Amino acid sequence: MNAPQGAWRLTLGYMLAAALWVLFSDGLLIALGLSLAQLERAQLLKGLGFVLLTAGLLYAVLRTHWQQHSQAHQALQRNEKRLRQAAAVFDATQEGVLVTDAQQHIVHCNPAFSRITGYSQAEILGQSPSMLKSGRHDKSFYDSLWSALQNRGAWSGEVWNRRKSGEIYPQWQCIRVIHDELGEISHYVAVFSDISALKRSQRELDYLAHHDPLSNLPNRLLFTERVERALERAKNDEQGGAVLLIDLDHFKNINESLGHNIGDLLLKDVGERLGQQLGKRMTLARLGGDEFGLLDESCSSAEQAAVIAQRLQACLTQAFSINQQELFITASIGISLYPSEAGDVGQVLRNADSALFKAKNSGRESYAFYSQELTEHAHQRVELASALRHALDHQELRVYYQPLICLRSQEMIGVEALVRWQHPQRGLVAPGEFIPIAEETGLIGAIDAWVLEQSCRQMVAWQIAGSKLRFVAVNVSSRLFSRGELDLRVAEVLRDSGLAPAHLELEVTESAVMENPDAALALLERLRALGIRLAIDDFGTGYSSLARLKRLPVHKLKLDQSFVSGLPHDQDDVAITRAVIALGHSMGLKVLAEGIEQPEQVELLQQLGCDHAQGYYFGRPQPAEQLATHLALSAATTN
Ligand code: C2E
Ligand code: MG
Ligand code: MG
Repeated sequence: MNAPQGAWRLTLGYMLAAALWVLFSDGLLIALGLSLAQLERAQLLKGLGFVLLTAGLLYAVLRTHWQQHSQAHQALQRNEKRLRQAAAVFDATQEGVLVTDAQQHIVHCNPAFSRITGYSQAEILGQSPSMLKSGRHDKSFYDSLWSALQNRGAWSGEVWNRRKSGEIYPQWQCIRVIHDELGEISHYVAVFSDISALKRSQRELDYLAHHDPLSNLPNRLLFTERVERALERAKNDEQGGAVLLIDLDHFKNINESLGHNIGDLLLKDVGERLGQQLGKRMTLARLGGDEFGLLDESCSSAEQAAVIAQRLQACLTQAFSINQQELFITASIGISLYPSEAGDVGQVLRNADSALFKAKNSGRESYAFYSQELTEHAHQRVELASALRHALDHQELRVYYQPLICLRSQEMIGVEALVRWQHPQRGLVAPGEFIPIAEETGLIGAIDAWVLEQSCRQMVAWQIAGSKLRFVAVNVSSRLFSRGELDLRVAEVLRDSGLAPAHLELEVTESAVMENPDAALALLERLRALGIRLAIDDFGTGYSSLARLKRLPVHKLKLDQSFVSGLPHDQDDVAITRAVIALGHSMGLKVLAEGIEQPEQVELLQQLGCDHAQGYYFGRPQPAEQLATHLALSAATTN
């Protein structure tokens, strides 16, 4: 019952009671049988009693009313005071406050909001808060925010918004839903603080926690984290890497004799020099004292790691100039390869550490691998690389030529040039042993150029001597092939040697082509435009895409010898050989089978329609002079 209804009922009750009293009270008095005088007195008393009762009632009602009024007044005063305080807080607070109505139109903001965002109240009233979005969060972020508001009536978290200046910044924001007395959403209130400064200091703290203050390089903590992540990645993409621990030799002497300040300056300079040697996917760290760590995530072999170790050692050989003093320092390096040698980060670092110990023990300024064989193997390969450089300069390389036969006519139609190394101690070294090293060290460019030149000259010499040989085939390394300028080099050699382009064939491996098919296609087209012939070597060992193969401007597929060796008995090899021949012919290409050693293989290949052949059965790779007799014979039989 509300107040006016209650008042009405009370008044009606009173009227009824008073009317009944007026109507029946005199009758009651008369019924008492009083005398006239007594009756008059009784009526007077009744009247007085009525006035008294009415006055009492009036008093009670007025008193209650005044009490309620004064309480309401006090409450109002208190409320006003509270509202004034709230408004003062709202205006003075450092947090930005934004109020929207239920339809998300901004209805209010405080001065801090304007200070943080750069928007004045006039500029944003009536707008949607989405005008503040930075674009850094995706739809799912806003979906979860709205679902929290719907389910819990509140949300808090980090949001990146955009200031009027366009700058985006992080803020910590709490949003609350406000309901009216009927329980409907009436407003949303967002309170937020700008946390960009906090973030910056967090970043600074993070940097300090992960870097060495002297050299500014990553410290042991960050280095360990990076190695850990590299191991994870190695598991997934099967690409191994190396961890090198670099320890300065006799650094203690410098500290003790020249003082720690000089020692610190030297460490800083050493860090800088080592840093200049960094390539892609490498992390250099100062692990403490005079120990540095290098993580190379794309180091696929022990040789590569050994080359890096040598490069690091070499960069320290020049004197360091510290406070006008020349200082010399050397370093020992321990190398651990992953994932082959170790499972977890602790193991990798321990292995590198014991390798370092080994390096230190075998005389300073050396490097060692965790395992003995690897150390020896790497040393050998590195020695081989420098010997190979020497071999190139001292004409120790030789070109051997192997006959290429037309299976239909059994005629020798061409030769393949194959390089050999006439090593002064080891004798004739096969290319399988030194081509990979030449590729790693970059010497392959010079070797291939030399073989190309020799082969072209030799071909011209044979032609002058009257040979009917149609072409000489020369191998091109994938390293050289991936560099674009091969066509220029070939054109130059053809010009210098005087060989007509149609008499030169270049052999490119399938994997070299498929490594970067678009670049390969462009290069092959330029080479073909020179008028030379092109063959895909070792076909079947790479992963050719037929769609790409179709577009390659080549003349010949050389079926890899691994498939030919199983002929004629291995049914899988027979099937593959048959398929490659059919494939080649369907694309208008000639097919050559490599590695033929037996007459049955020749017979089968002839039956299958193979065009050309190469193998010990027809002739081994041999020096030009020996082949000359072969050529003379073949020229005689065909003439
Ligand atoms: P390739 O181009 O596939 O050359 C064929 C290889 O098979 C040669 O080995 C040859 O001696 C061998 N061979 C030929 N017939 C037979 C046979 O009947 N049975 C067996 N078991 N082997 C046979 P080689 O000369 O040792 O060359 C190996 C690889 O080295 C070549 O494979 C080629 O990829 C590379 N290579 C050789 N010379 C050069 C060069 O001047 N430059 C470049 N980049 N690579 C070269
Ligand atoms: Mg070849
Ligand atoms: Mg081959």
